[in-house]
Amino acid sequence: MSEEKRSRELGMDCAITRRDFLNGVAIGAGGLLAADPVLAALIAQETSQEKAPGYYPPALTGMRGNHDGTFTYAHQLRDGKPWDAAGAAAKTGETYDLVVVGGGISGLAAAHFYRKSAGKGPRILVLDNHDDFGGHAKRNEFRAGGRMLLSYGGTQSIESPGKYSDVAKGLLTELGIQTDRFYKAYDRSLYSKLGTAAFFDKETFGADRLVTGMNATPWPEFLAQAPLSDGVRREIARVYTERVDYLPGLSKEEKLAKLGKISYADYLVKYCKLAPEALPFFQTFTHDLFCVGIEAVSAGACYEAGDDYQSFTYPGFDGLGLPEREKEEPYIFHFPDGNATIARLLVRALVPGAVPGQTMDDVVTARADYSNLDEENATVRIRLNSTVVHVQHAKGPKASKEVEIAYVRSGKLASVQTKECVLACYNGMIPYICPELPEKQKEALAYLVKAPLVYTHVALRNWTAFQKLGVHHIVAPGGYHTYTALDFPVSVGQYQFPSNPEEPMVLFMLRTPCRPGLAPRDQHRAGRMELMQTPFAAFERHIRDQLARMLGGAGFDAARDVEGITVNRWAHGYAFTPNALFDPDWKEEEKPWVVGRKRFGNIAIANSDAGADAYTNVAIDQAHRAVGELAESRS
Ligand SMILES: Cc1cc2nc3c(=O)[nH]c(=O)nc-3n(C[C@H](O)[C@H](O)[C@H](O)COP(=O)(O)OP(=O)(O)OC[C@H]3O[C@@H](n4cnc5c(N)ncnc54)[C@H](O)[C@@H]3O)c2cc1C
Repeated sequence: MSEEKRSRELGMDCAITRRDFLNGVAIGAGGLLAADPVLAALIAQETSQEKAPGYYPPALTGMRGNHDGTFTYAHQLRDGKPWDAAGAAAKTGETYDLVVVGGGISGLAAAHFYRKSAGKGPRILVLDNHDDFGGHAKRNEFRAGGRMLLSYGGTQSIESPGKYSDVAKGLLTELGIQTDRFYKAYDRSLYSKLGTAAFFDKETFGADRLVTGMNATPWPEFLAQAPLSDGVRREIARVYTERVDYLPGLSKEEKLAKLGKISYADYLVKYCKLAPEALPFFQTFTHDLFCVGIEAVSAGACYEAGDDYQSFTYPGFDGLGLPEREKEEPYIFHFPDGNATIARLLVRALVPGAVPGQTMDDVVTARADYSNLDEENATVRIRLNSTVVHVQHAKGPKASKEVEIAYVRSGKLASVQTKECVLACYNGMIPYICPELPEKQKEALAYLVKAPLVYTHVALRNWTAFQKLGVHHIVAPGGYHTYTALDFPVSVGQYQFPSNPEEPMVLFMLRTPCRPGLAPRDQHRAGRMELMQTPFAAFERHIRDQLARMLGGAGFDAARDVEGITVNRWAHGYAFTPNALFDPDWKEEEKPWVVGRKRFGNIAIANSDAGADAYTNVAIDQAHRAVGELAESRS
């Protein structure tokens, strides 16, 4: 079949919403104000973008996440262009007590903690380069089948809230979040009869085949349906079923130490004696949590990950006699738009009138009013579409209390002055925007390479194909997207989850671009490069093709059934987390994120990067620490 015919068959010419950017200006999509996009863009250029009618980023589809326009100036800095290449920054004349760079959960939490510790008086400005607040914690809205469907652009769930620090728990409580409500709100029975399938693609395994019953059917029976040789089938079934101590003669502590120092791929081949031909089945199991394949993740980390919620079960550990892993809380603490709700609740608390309502229920369907975020007389202002390019103490850190912040907005350089500053932005960018930091600190910050990943969401006309197949998860070890899942079944407030298969549904698809064979930080750099070179149309083609190949047998028709696509491209995704196979065993005071986050004069450093762990609670804790350091330096 010709490429053109296949594209038509997949619906590449179908009218779905692909609204992202017009001339670098975010435009409103659908929603209550449903303005004409071109008109909205023209108005946006005339006035403040965010005040334009129809400005509502959560409803934008197409390429989102680190969307076009967010990295232009940052990449110019990286490439050596001076921050003031466009001339002197126009002084806005604005002065603040605190300027926060980065409007993610850490930046918003920093503004919250600062205001709390300093009373209601301080004037605060939050600057962010995206068209929406929340950082990774973004909201995706679709309209399909005459209803609103919610989903998350990045940060998915409140994971293990019982393990949150008192500070992070306290913040959730102050915002009105009661995590125990999810035991009712999350419908754990809806998918109970649906299981996991594996999709074997022809490029990797020689033939396209969807095999249902993964992790539920006895392995030999399940694998008998897969396009694998008899030998490979036997090998995979063996490691899943035999209970062998592959590390005989070692104590439990020695076993754990050993597992921490070998890759999972090596463990399978060298210790479990798995035939190397069987490795492609497992290769991408680690993508979701670690953003690299099993050759770059330690066996110990896979052991710790256990049978995670996404159906990737790591064999080889059951016969080792290791202690039972601590039982995790269920993975149910999920708002319909993920942790974007936390960001929205923070904004509600910081900027009265920006997010209407008062409770964790009404926030879910509340429509944020972006025109309110940056009001002249407000004590807290949130300025979007603003990339900070330079941060400097006005007269050196010791001589002055003031910090000058320059940023680019709508192509123009502007500056504000502040008494104190929290950099809650990507830590790896700080050396470029704050060159006055000590060299050693800049070197440490530059080490913290973030991992790229893509959270694709597809609005479907209905989910009958999944019902027919009896699955809600699909693991695709060689697929363009390696994992696909029906959305989390959760209803909060007025928002009711589509629980009937005839209803429209949001589908989650995960892609983690990486380059096996390189060290993880280089894999992330290569993956990021790949992302930046992949246009939305290429993603769309892959998405439609993969869905057609996985679900076509159950009546799915990509041209008919896809109602909208949002590709959340996180070129700078998960925070750097040390990898026992590649990173030195640093002493506490030498850890690059510890060296990197040191307060410098009136500038403190937050973001989950500063805690070297990609979790919401870490972003909150780091914000609290940074604000505490500023307070300490004042006293
Ligand atoms: C895809 C994905 C899924 C995740 N899922 C979960 C999950 O389920 N549970 C969980 O607990 N954690 C999850 N995490 C991790 C979690 O999102 C983060 O730990 C947390 O939200 C990070 O918040 P942050 O404010 O530290 O950083 P960010 O969210 O990255 O916010 C920083 C902001 O600063 C902006 N910025 C950077 N440079 C500049 C500049 N020069 N000028 C202006 N602005 C700038 C950035 O663009 C960004 O908007 C996930 C992360 C990703 C990427």
